[in-house]
Amino acid sequence: MPELPEISNLALQMTKQLDGKRIDTLDLTQPKCLNVSVRRFRRIVGKTIEQTNPRGKWLFTKLQPRDNLLLNLGMGGDLRYHENDSTTPKKYQLQVTFDDKTQLTVAFFWFGYIHLASDKELTQHKMTSKLGISPLDKEFTVEKLASLLSGKRGTIKSFLLNQENVAGIGNVYVQDPLFKARLHPLRKIQTLTNSEIEALHQSIHEVIHHSIRLGGLKYERDLYGQHGRYGPHQFLVAYKPNEPCPNCKTTIVKIRTGSTASYICPKCQKL
Ligand SMILES: [Zn+2]
Repeated sequence: MPELPEISNLALQMTKQLDGKRIDTLDLTQPKCLNVSVRRFRRIVGKTIEQTNPRGKWLFTKLQPRDNLLLNLGMGGDLRYHENDSTTPKKYQLQVTFDDKTQLTVAFFWFGYIHLASDKELTQHKMTSKLGISPLDKEFTVEKLASLLSGKRGTIKSFLLNQENVAGIGNVYVQDPLFKARLHPLRKIQTLTNSEIEALHQSIHEVIHHSIRLGGLKYERDLYGQHGRYGPHQFLVAYKPNEPCPNCKTTIVKIRTGSTASYICPKCQKL
């Protein structure tokens, strides 16, 4: 499942390739991905694409006039740009052809969302209106993280995975920041010290930006079908059970934390 680094790269690539293009035709094969009627959706034909921004695990593309295309790739799925139609996949949920004959296709593996919201409706959009701050925002400071944590109950991992607190971190990018900050995923929020919050803030920043620089996860693809380069060589403890901790050589273990799996060094990340 793409998380913030992958979504952020896709947003940059979409802006680079699509900004200024006019939607000429579209082919929609699965109307149940929509939040509006097919008729309403078809009204984006003729509109011009502007900037795309990452919003948690969503991509927000501005359409002029007055509309926004909201994409969520769900459990993966391919979002692709095509210079010519020879690279267009046979199966897709949405194919958009632009005035210069280039195309964008959206193909979900399992299920995803193709939503539309006018500028007025955007803040009311159910699935995204409650999304929390992005770790890429300038406003995501140590103070901001501390204030979000203040008064919260529960564990640090479930806090980070809750998209209403911080948007865009999933089970991949939660692992190494916790390790770098020497925090056990089940640490109670109320017991965190200021210096631990500071370390966590810095680690989140480092891990997310490291992955963005490498084009995102190795297991995901970008707008051109290329794999990212962030994978096992970059992971510290994530998805490395039975390997030595990079810090103390203790064997990394995989543990269950609620409904998710966590990878930790039991010595560096004591509960
Ligand atoms: Zn260790």
